[in-house]
Amino acid sequence: MVDGRSRPIYMDHAATTPVRPEVVEEMLPCFLERFGNPSSIYALAREAQVTMERARGRVAAAIGASTDEIFFTSGGTEADNWAIKGVAAANRKKGDHIVTSAIEHHAVLHPCQALEKQGYRVTYLPVDEFGRVEPASVEEAITEKTVLVSVMAANNEIGTIQPVRAIAGVTHDHGILFHTDAVQAIGAIPIDVDALGIDLLSLSAHKFGGPKGTGALYIRRGTRVKPLMDGGAQERGRRAGTENVPGIVGMGKAIDLAVAEMPQKSAWLAAMRDRLIRGILDSIPDTRLNGHPTERLANNVNMAFRYVEGESILLSLDALGIAGSTGSACTSASLEPSHVLTACGLPPEHAHGSLRLTLGSRNTDEDVDYVLSALPRVIERLREMSPLSPNDNA
Ligand code: PLP
Repeated sequence: MVDGRSRPIYMDHAATTPVRPEVVEEMLPCFLERFGNPSSIYALAREAQVTMERARGRVAAAIGASTDEIFFTSGGTEADNWAIKGVAAANRKKGDHIVTSAIEHHAVLHPCQALEKQGYRVTYLPVDEFGRVEPASVEEAITEKTVLVSVMAANNEIGTIQPVRAIAGVTHDHGILFHTDAVQAIGAIPIDVDALGIDLLSLSAHKFGGPKGTGALYIRRGTRVKPLMDGGAQERGRRAGTENVPGIVGMGKAIDLAVAEMPQKSAWLAAMRDRLIRGILDSIPDTRLNGHPTERLANNVNMAFRYVEGESILLSLDALGIAGSTGSACTSASLEPSHVLTACGLPPEHAHGSLRLTLGSRNTDEDVDYVLSALPRVIERLREMSPLSPNDNA
């Protein structure tokens, strides 16, 4: 490894997290011994069902829900699709309008766009410069035909935390259902569906130390949601398909650990985050912080560097053993700036040069020191080569 380091520095925990050893340990018997199909009728199957129901209880407890309100899915994307398309279909006679925000994950935006093609109307709420949705704008967007308001709990790119309770309050004042994509929020900020007024909530195991391909949709008791898939009668007839028992069991253990460790973990993550942000701002000119200065996830650093491309920063950091992510997702043909940064009003020259570093349990103060020593040199070198740079005489 570079600079005598024995391991790469992983700072992309918003993309995914390593599965915790305790989680793997609980999953293993589900592959090898308790492998029965939970729908079958013999002892082996009942064992699988018991472990799965225990996991359902853990997921429910983590968000203040009841076990019969948790439905397992293949991840956050399915949960978001189900919430949006399922509520829209179940309420088609009542209305055809959905309210969401401009900075949602594509797992919310694309189902909304698919519904628009079917004749539904969708309002994409603007955000302020820090990526916050103003509850008053939700009130203004609601019409007699609105059937769902969907606003994420915390943003995956810039880490901004939304005023969920206030938005849900406005939504309920009009008798409308409120969904939140809490994929980045679980294990990061306290979530209680009753206290916050959430009717539907999406979560995904691989963001909090669980396995990929497993998630859940919380559906408040009595809420009408059409199934996404037709098939068997699993999940009380609402989500067809044999359950991913090992994944579900792993998710149960992971959410238990994540929620129990949250207060302590978020305090030390926030300390590392703030040191990174301060260190970068102090050592690299023409740089700004993207997202909210205080209402942000404890592990999220998102910086915009002028005169450089985010992808070049990533490649240079990768060569130094640092794994990060760019705020600007580039499509294959053109380099489009991130829809999140654009919605925050970032000028394109800033949006293109954005870098997201998201911290996790294995990061150390030495990792932060290493990034703080490497990054200024990387940016300086890229700026020297950049045709965008004001020092460029070419
Ligand atoms: N929603 C948000 C906010 C996310 O960050 C992600 C994943 O990056 C998803 C949804 C999709 O979740 P999954 O990867 O489980 O499909």
